[in-house]
Amino acid sequence: MEVKNEIKFSMPSLSVNESTARAVVSSFLIQADPTVEELSDIRTAVSEAVTNAVVHAYRNTKGRIELTVRLLKDREIYIRIKDKGCGISDVEQAMEPLFTTAPEEERSGLGFSVMQSFMDKLTVKSKSGKGTTVTMRKRLSEHGK
Ligand code: ATP
Ligand code: MG
Repeated sequence: MEVKNEIKFSMPSLSVNESTARAVVSSFLIQADPTVEELSDIRTAVSEAVTNAVVHAYRNTKGRIELTVRLLKDREIYIRIKDKGCGISDVEQAMEPLFTTAPEEERSGLGFSVMQSFMDKLTVKSKSGKGTTVTMRKRLSEHGK
């Protein structure tokens, strides 16, 4: 992986940091001159992943969330959101549209579907009791060239 630029950002699992994460990602990505739509898609995907860490991974507890954003060659963006929370026992099932373990909280089970549709690639690695790492990639368009 050829990394042109990278930031790592760590924050406690507070819901206010869902918007902090969006802002951090936006500020970093300005250098790549994304379209308004691309930036909006990426912000939404990051928000879904951070929300999951806050509400599911660290349910009834607190922990840290680590955000890594990389600018790769050919205008590709790499984003990793990592928690050390409860983990996911069945990742395949968790990623199915409409699957949620929190229906009573009016969760719709669409977070992973949103990440999948807004980004080019989504990878979820998780271990029960150890935590979850969500990795996403998106190639920005060559607009204006
Ligand atoms: P929505 O995102 O629509 O509000 P949701 O969060 O339940 O609902 P997804 O984001 O698709 O839906 O996640 C599906 C399920 O995967 C969650 O209900 C939860 O059980 C599990 N999950 C997702 N992310 C994590 C995580 N970081 N740690 C532990 N469990 C997770
Ligand atoms: Mg979710």
